[in-house]
Formats: sequence, structure tokens, C-alpha cells
Amino acid sequence: MKRILILGGGTGGLVAANELRKKLSKEHKIILIDRNDKHIYAPSFLWLMLGKRKAQKIQKPLKLVKRKGIDFVNEEIIKILPEKKIVKTTRNEFDYDYLIISLGAELAPENIKGLSNAGYNLYQLEDVERLRDDLKKFKGEKVSIVISSLPFKCPAAPYEAAFLLDEYFDKKGVREKTEISIFTPEALPMPAAGPKNGEIIKSMLESRNIRFNPETQLVSVDSNKKEIQFKDKTPVNYDLLIFVPPHKGPEVIINSNLGNEMGWIPVDKNTLKTNHNNIFAIGDVASITLSSGKPLSKAGVFAHFEAEVVADNIAAEIKRLNADKRYDGRAYCFLELGYGKAGFAGGNFYAEPVPAIKMRRPGRLWHLGKLLFEKYWFWKWF
Ligand SMILES: Cc1cc2nc3c(=O)[nH]c(=O)nc-3n(C[C@H](O)[C@H](O)[C@H](O)COP(=O)(O)OP(=O)(O)OC[C@H]3O[C@@H](n4cnc5c(N)ncnc54)[C@H](O)[C@@H]3O)c2cc1C
Repeated sequence: MKRILILGGGTGGLVAANELRKKLSKEHKIILIDRNDKHIYAPSFLWLMLGKRKAQKIQKPLKLVKRKGIDFVNEEIIKILPEKKIVKTTRNEFDYDYLIISLGAELAPENIKGLSNAGYNLYQLEDVERLRDDLKKFKGEKVSIVISSLPFKCPAAPYEAAFLLDEYFDKKGVREKTEISIFTPEALPMPAAGPKNGEIIKSMLESRNIRFNPETQLVSVDSNKKEIQFKDKTPVNYDLLIFVPPHKGPEVIINSNLGNEMGWIPVDKNTLKTNHNNIFAIGDVASITLSSGKPLSKAGVFAHFEAEVVADNIAAEIKRLNADKRYDGRAYCFLELGYGKAGFAGGNFYAEPVPAIKMRRPGRLWHLGKLLFEKYWFWKWF
């Protein structure tokens, strides 16, 4: 009998737990640990912002996995001890034969002076609900969408927010009075998808009168003056500030000395193996360097496919079969554009010398695909 511990019940953890349960007989224990008692489907935050989703519709209790034969422990993980093969939570200690770490990225708005008390954090459910309520009263002024620092998960999300808000303000009749600007340290949108796709998205922003301000590094925000300061640039005033906060590796990874200085865990890009025996790291917490020297982006699609590979290999090893699955870098992403349309970019992020990502012509089909994927997600994994 083997014990497999999965840390984090987000995208990667949920998929890994399901896939392992499907592949292994009941004598093997699969234990999923998360401090949150719910799984939250983050892509729907954008629809939540527009009032098209209710918060309870985009989350599910993690205890539901118990009916599939997966144990769920709702506790905070505080230490990982690879040499003892033990994981400590605030209340318990768990030993393991295999460990999958899928603890995601931690949001750190406090790393930027004044940011925590200013505007709306696009990556936090409660803030997005607050934003939705305040948007209803918004009469049209300066809207700034600020990407605080790199890396950040889902490189498309802040751009999707801009396109959707363009439509929202248009339908509300205040678009002409509203200036929408994006500020980012990136040179082009979604740099991991390559410069050609970046230029396409940039021109789509321009065609919608959304101002794109590249290579702007956020330094601080003064919420009293409603002023944003960037490095070596003139300060900018805002009426409505929406931000993607700085990201860092999970505290427990930093405390357990398992990652680099930012708390990301270096892994083999094909097997997701860490430097420690029988420990795998997947999703946002994993650090993968592409052959170009750039890091692989952080997105749910990577967590999902990496989880499938790791689950397959662990199950094969336990069954004394060939553990030969490899993650090959294939991934895709939808880009909501508003007015019932979306774009779609997909391809191979491991292609050499640069990722081979193709952007499809935007259309209603891709928007429908994104809607269906949300339904599929909860149906498939709960
Ligand atoms: C607005 C928004 C839109 C997005 N849209 C897309 C999209 O369209 N496509 C896409 O591919 N990706 C998208 N993403 C990104 C995607 O959600 C993440 O990349 C993905 O969830 C990462 O999966 P993960 O398993 O690595 O981490 P997560 O899903 O973040 O899960 C980590 C889990 O670990 C738990 N945890 C952390 N620390 C501890 C601890 N100490 N103890 C116990 N539990 C802990 C957390 O509670 C959490 O449940 C979006 C993200 C946002 C915010």
C-alpha cells in the first residue's frame, strides 16, 4: 500500500488526485490537503466582474472529492521535510511515499507601497466582487489596469479584463467618457507566446482604443492622491485602479528551503521531478526554464497537463510499469475579447528555438469554447 500526498486543491492538485484515483486501486491512499475548503475556478473571475457569474457558482467544496475515494484534509501546510518524508500541517503530520506539490503562487500586494489599500485586486475573489458592485456606479473616467511585476499567472487575464470592460462601458453608454489604459513591465502582451502574437494583441488593443503602456515598472500607489508612480516615468492619475499584484512562491516552500529565492521549485520540464526523491512540483509553483532562457508562463493549462503526466508516471511506477510519460510543452489559451467573441492561441511552448504558438482568428466559437470549458471543468473533476 502506498500513500500519495497532494499539496494544494487548485488546478494541478485536483487533476492529479482524480487521475491517480482513476489509475490506482483502493488499497493505495490518495490524500489531498488544502487550507481552503473550496476549489475556486479563477478564469471565471472576469465574468464575475461583469455580474455574469455568482461567486458560489465558480467554486465547489473540496470535500466532494471524498465520494471518489480521495481523502481531503482542510488544513494549512506549514513544513515539508523531504529527508523524513513528512509534511506538517498546523494540526497533523503526514508521511508519504510520493509527494505532489501544487501550492500555486502567493499574491503579495504588500510588496508595493500603497497597493494593498488602493483599487481592486483582479486576482482575488472578494475584490472582484467589490469591483463588480462599484462598476455599476461608475460614470466613466480614467481606468488603469496595472500589472505590478513579473511573473504573474495567466498572462492573458489583464488583457481580457480590458477588452471586456471596453464592451461593458460601451453598453453602459459611458465608453466615450472613459479612458482605459494598461501598464505593464512587459514589452508586448503575453511575451511567452512570441513577438508576433504580442503585436497582434497590441493592435487589437489599439483598435479598441485601449492604451498600452509597455515597460512600465510599478513603484508605488498613493490612494489619497489617486496617483500611480512608475520607475523613471511621470506619475499617472486614476479614477479606477485594477491591478495584478506581485506574485511569490508559497511561504511554506520558502520556509522548507525547497525553492529558489522567490520560492519557485526548479523541476525537470518533462517529468516535473524536483531534486528530491519522489517529490514532484507542478503548476504555478514549479519553475521551468525554456531553452530561450525565459521562464515558462504560469497558467492553469500547464498545471492541468503536468498533473496528468505526474499522475500517470506515479501510478505506472507503483504498478511496476514503464513510467514513460513526458510533458511536451503543448498548451492553449482563450482570450476573451467582449461582444461574444474570443481569440485562441495554442501550440508548443517547448519548441526550439522559440515557442511555436499560433493565434487563431477571433470569433464566437472560441468564446463558446471558453464557456463550455468552465462547465466541463466542474463536471470532470467533481
Ligand atoms: C483572473 C484569473 C484568470 C485566469 N484564467 C486562466 C485561464 O483562462 N487559463 C489558464 O490556463 N489559467 C488561468 N488562470 C491561472 C490559473 O488559475 C492558475 O495558473 C492555476 O490555478 C494554477 O494551478 P496550481 O494548481 O498551480 O495552483 P492553484 O490553482 O492556485 O492552487 C493552489 C492551492 O494551494 C493552496 N495552498 C497554498 N498554500 C497552502 C498552504 N500553505 N497550505 C494549504 N494549502 C495551500 C491554495 O489554497 C490553493 O487551493 C487565471 C488566473 C486568474 C487569477
